Amino acid sequence: MEFSILADAFSKMEATKKRLELTQYLVELFEKTPQDVISKIVYLLQGKLRPDFEGVELGVAEKLAIKAISKSSGIPVKKIESEYRKGGDLGYAASVILEQKTQTTFLMEDITVERVYETLYKIAKLEGSRSQDMKMKYISSLLNDATPVEASFILKILLGTLRLGIAENTVMDALAVAFTGNKENRKVLEHAYNVSSDLGKVAEIVAKKGMDGVEKFEISLFNPIRPMLADRVKSEEEAVEKMGDRFAAEYKLDGERVQLHVEGERVVLFSRSLENISSYYPDIIEKIPKSIQADKVILEAEAVAINENTGEFLPFQELMHRRRKYKIEKAVSKYPITVNFFDVLYYNGKSCLDLGYEERRNLLEKIVKEDEYAKHVPMSIVTNKNEIEEFLENSINSGCEGLMLKMLDKPYQAGSRGNYWLKLKREYRNELGDSLDLVVIGAFFGKGRRTGRYGTLLLASYDDDQDMFTSICKVGTGFTDEDLDQLYQILSNKVTIKKNPRIDSEMEADVWFEPELVVEVVASEITLSPIHKAARGAIRKDTGLALRFPKFTGKIRVEKAAEDASTNEEVLTLFKGQKKVAHDKNLI
Ligand code: AMP
Repeated sequence: MEFSILADAFSKMEATKKRLELTQYLVELFEKTPQDVISKIVYLLQGKLRPDFEGVELGVAEKLAIKAISKSSGIPVKKIESEYRKGGDLGYAASVILEQKTQTTFLMEDITVERVYETLYKIAKLEGSRSQDMKMKYISSLLNDATPVEASFILKILLGTLRLGIAENTVMDALAVAFTGNKENRKVLEHAYNVSSDLGKVAEIVAKKGMDGVEKFEISLFNPIRPMLADRVKSEEEAVEKMGDRFAAEYKLDGERVQLHVEGERVVLFSRSLENISSYYPDIIEKIPKSIQADKVILEAEAVAINENTGEFLPFQELMHRRRKYKIEKAVSKYPITVNFFDVLYYNGKSCLDLGYEERRNLLEKIVKEDEYAKHVPMSIVTNKNEIEEFLENSINSGCEGLMLKMLDKPYQAGSRGNYWLKLKREYRNELGDSLDLVVIGAFFGKGRRTGRYGTLLLASYDDDQDMFTSICKVGTGFTDEDLDQLYQILSNKVTIKKNPRIDSEMEADVWFEPELVVEVVASEITLSPIHKAARGAIRKDTGLALRFPKFTGKIRVEKAAEDASTNEEVLTLFKGQKKVAHDKNLI
């Protein structure tokens, strides 16, 4: 398939944000795509080469890309850099530069999607001392044969700056229309995606086998399943109202969610955002197989740091010490954990997702033999407010965050947040009643003791309709010196020259970041704001929502992807909830 077809589609999609138009362009593109190339097209659309959980990263630095452009165009590096500085987009700069190409190649070949993909894949896999030279050779060979527009997209993919703003749902809508003629079939595609986390694979199956293939889609071991999420409730009363008169309560442990795929001695671990995190937990890989009585199984657990002497649970932050590439053994022995199992999703070749909670829990207790290291999450069947309260008290006393409440007869809803699971956290002392997980989009340099680090962060909530990150507050309190160091270390790798197009903020920060890191904050209230962009227009025209007196809780939520941050809808619900409380108390 000619790469120019894809580049044309990219250009059209870049020029719109309207979902219907995007869907239409995608349908047209998919209809022109041969079956064998469809998965590659779907990955490339998202600026990827493989599904996220495989961890294939292009990781090409701007400097190297500039050198490659220079090599293939004959134009000096300095000139390319100055063109780049004008617009802040290297892809675009390259297309301008290549228009003025002084060297012509005599044997111009048409470039194909397959060739671009294979070359990018080779670049991603290169390692070692000579890899930089090789990367440059590969890039400039592509640029030699590319038209300026094609070159600009190749570079954007390489640098990770291709942002078409296409949500996964939009891709699925378009796949359903292009290959089944019916948008409603999206739901079935969504199921396949939720159990495989691999949109390319889903696309290939629907293109080759139609709905029949998608309906028969099965879970594969070592392909992560998208996690089920919980709604929140504020009180025991609300929980009983929503759950009925008999349901399960489990401790809500404050650790890292881990999805374990186990076959014999082979264990692969995925995080909540489906990253392969096996290397952070060599202890789980080594110790867990002997606790498992199954040939093939997918389990979910919370890995929690513990005090080795007392067995007490320690807060999530303790696990951060394991987030390192080297000397992980030292961190493992210094910060021991237990693995606390709470669900089984797949057992000896069969999906368990459609079983009710109670059946899954019984099966889980049979599969996982408990010992010092592997545990079942404490669970109790509760029937009223008092029983919840008592169990909540126990959970808080042993260092947990609160309770997860689960309906006994309900299936595991992969990839969705709903009412079958509810979380009840201990009342926070902040008046808002709950914490928010927000994305760091920018920062302001610190003064005084904070010089050389970021003193204040600019945070955003997630607008999942538009796939944008909308500013909601600045936060400058709650940080220890250690937090500031750690945040600086993480964030300085995410600095961008220009504000990422997915960021919606009127406030100008000193530095902008790729919207990736999620932090937890509490606040005294949510107010209307003329400056901030969260849920803008939902309550009043040209007015957004903002947090008043926000404070960092100390939790950097590395296990969350930016898209897992609190949504504008959640912020809006909290805003309306606080008004209701005030109203009930006759305050307004
Ligand atoms: P939150 O991150 O506040 O939305 O809460 C959901 C998270 O709680 C999950 O992603 C898990 O990491 C964690 N969790 C702790 N205990 C449990 C449990 N018993 N069942 C399910 N999730 C749990």
